[in-house]
Amino acid sequence: MTRIKLVSLCQHLLAQQLAVGDVAIDATVGNGYDTAFLATQVGSSGKVYGFDLQAAALQATNQRLQQLNLLDRVDLYQASHHQMLDWLPARLHGRCRAVMFNLGYLPGGDKTLITQAATTLPALDAACQVLMPTGMLTVIAYPGHAGGDQENRELANWLAGLEPARFEQQLIESDVGNPSAPRLFVVRKRR
Ligand code: SAH
Repeated sequence: MTRIKLVSLCQHLLAQQLAVGDVAIDATVGNGYDTAFLATQVGSSGKVYGFDLQAAALQATNQRLQQLNLLDRVDLYQASHHQMLDWLPARLHGRCRAVMFNLGYLPGGDKTLITQAATTLPALDAACQVLMPTGMLTVIAYPGHAGGDQENRELANWLAGLEPARFEQQLIESDVGNPSAPRLFVVRKRR
């Protein structure tokens, strides 16, 4: 399974999860493909909050959303995802249906600017707080690139520490048994 297929699988799972009027978060906006996907799913009565550190990523995404006429239902922040609780209105804490992470570097961008466990893990903690019961957290990780292996190890530890009574989790490997292959973690908050 390629990177693209893992992204499509992730979107397929989220499409079953999301309904019109929902609130969703794209924690790694990048070129905005996932942001546009989420915005389409939540409809004109829903809302998507997007985070990225790179101005170029947010600019490209802004343009994409404008072309697709989706800009009115998306708020983009040039901020680190570990601060999402500070940016998200307090009334939405515990009310989001989905949070998406696509780790690593921006495709076509600066490959040295990658997500880092030091902020990824606090961001995942925040994501668990913003999710509503039955909400879904998805994380696509790339252990194969420099820095990605370390982040993936720390991510695996974080997942192992999730309370089974509160969260259920699933791992989907793009190439089963290959430790450097991209993988998708799906976490659901129990009712
Ligand atoms: N989902 C995107 C791809 C994301 S690539 C798409 O569909 O195109 C990963 C992105 O995470 C990069 O754009 C990078 O700038 C961003 N990123 C890295 N560290 C971050 C952080 N601490 N907070 C938010 N975004 C971050």
